[in-house]
Amino acid sequence: MSDVRETEVEDKIAAVQHQGIWDCTLCNECVPVCPVGIAPKQDIVMLRNKSGVMGYMDPSFSSNFGDDGTPSFGGPAF
Ligand code: SF4
Repeated sequence: MSDVRETEVEDKIAAVQHQGIWDCTLCNECVPVCPVGIAPKQDIVMLRNKSGVMGYMDPSFSSNFGDDGTPSFGGPAF
């Protein structure tokens, strides 16, 4: 995603929406034990940021919005 030669960013960002980036808890456990030192968490954060710029949202967060985009916080309507 960070390579300027990448030409299919939109397709790849679309593909990762349902393949784990939003399931990551950002606990950082993978970083010190990664055998090749690629810091997976930072890459996941980068993918989330690019996703947000492209209009995607954490699905667990977006479920708190109504069809008209109005936020719902789960409490009673006043
Ligand atoms: S990918 Fe890394 S930071 Fe995310 S939940 Fe798994 S161990 Fe934690």
